[in-house]
Amino acid sequence: MLDEVYGKNNKDQNRNTNQPTVVGLSANQMGVNKRISIVDLAISLKGYSNIQVLVNPEITWKSKTIIERLEGCVSIPSVWGYVKRSGRVKVNALDRAGNKLQLDVKGWTAVLLQHELEHLNGILFIDHLEDPTKAHLVQPDEYRVHKLAKKNWNKFVDISKLVKLQNK
Ligand SMILES: [Zn+2]
Repeated sequence: MLDEVYGKNNKDQNRNTNQPTVVGLSANQMGVNKRISIVDLAISLKGYSNIQVLVNPEITWKSKTIIERLEGCVSIPSVWGYVKRSGRVKVNALDRAGNKLQLDVKGWTAVLLQHELEHLNGILFIDHLEDPTKAHLVQPDEYRVHKLAKKNWNKFVDISKLVKLQNK
């Protein structure tokens, strides 16, 4: 899983092998049936990374304050959508060595942890979209434009149809 996070399967020669290429990954996304998520706790800090392996992670507390962020997922490439989640969460887990971890995170890091831990329960961010016919379809080369356009983006994909196609 760490190889995947650090992009060892990515053959791009310009890639910096010390920098993660994925901000979050959960074991079942790779067909591994274990409760393990890997997250970059420095997701909100540009140019930094703080990769943490979380074993048996559990959310122990969620704030009532809700924030809305644009989410995507390596399991459903090119699909993006605005999701509302708690702005701060507390998480208990074990690290790779079996030491107890207690995380108290907010903002992007809180969003990432909720996204990844839901993977372990088979839930994807698209399951939270208010209108599943209006997920945003953004190809990688369009992402920069999409970010600028924010919610005014007008290219939508109907997630319910997409999921049916993937199951065929
Ligand atoms: Zn995901």
